[in-house]
Amino acid sequence: MIKVGTSTLIHQNSKVRLAVIDKLAHVMSTLKKDGKDVILVSSGAIGVGMGVLHLDSRPVKISQQQAVAAIGQAELIQIYNEALHKYGMCAAQMLITKDVIDYPESHTNVMNNFQALLSMPNAIPIVNENDAITVSELDHLTKFGDNDQLSAIVTNLVDADLLIMLSDIDGFYTANPLKVPDAKLIDRVKTIGPDIIAAAGGHGTKFGTGGMTTKLKAAERILKHNQQMVLANGKDPDIIFNILSGDMVGTLFT
Ligand code: ADP
Repeated sequence: MIKVGTSTLIHQNSKVRLAVIDKLAHVMSTLKKDGKDVILVSSGAIGVGMGVLHLDSRPVKISQQQAVAAIGQAELIQIYNEALHKYGMCAAQMLITKDVIDYPESHTNVMNNFQALLSMPNAIPIVNENDAITVSELDHLTKFGDNDQLSAIVTNLVDADLLIMLSDIDGFYTANPLKVPDAKLIDRVKTIGPDIIAAAGGHGTKFGTGGMTTKLKAAERILKHNQQMVLANGKDPDIIFNILSGDMVGTLFT
């Protein structure tokens, strides 16, 4: 399971980092050809939508955000598809809602779909929350909350071996390095105690939503299910190969 954050996919000036998406498509296609099951959880719909519509800031009204997300999601999948096609793969868009954990029927349906997609040699599922029909970031009845937690939930659902969370930072530090320049990278986190929670400062970019707080919530869920997560820098997606070959990069939550 790979999760890629908005700050990795989009420049501060709203331009999509096409080279990153192309490399990500290459890495995922190579893994798939090697016989690995690959699922991507991708943020970026609102950021890409803002670029399409030439907006400088995220709209305040929820309905406007949903409209921007709907436009951005279509564009984003098109960009992924163009990149994946070069490597003989195609994107399978999976827009899901919290129903998949709340209702057994929806759970069964989504599991069957994942299974079918994973058994196809050329399909890469690209998951996002269905922003067009879920309500607000604060409405826990319909929304997962954010893509960090969504990626952890999908990791639990499909019983993935590893969640690789790609962000704009090398890993989890003793404090937010944007604010505390001598903060140190933590190689390994075994439990999310108060010291770790206190180390998660605010977020850095205009697009990134959750900062480290939501990544720690995701990690907490992963650890609770005895799974593993690596938080690493997505600026060069080839880092996924390093992680899978056992190099110590980023922060391993285990
Ligand atoms: P994404 O778009 O990848 O989800 P976010 O912008 O939401 O990323 O979160 C990543 C940001 O979290 C980093 O750029 C950094 O500024 C901030 N951050 C806060 N606390 C920490 C910490 N302890 N270690 C690393 N990054 C931190």
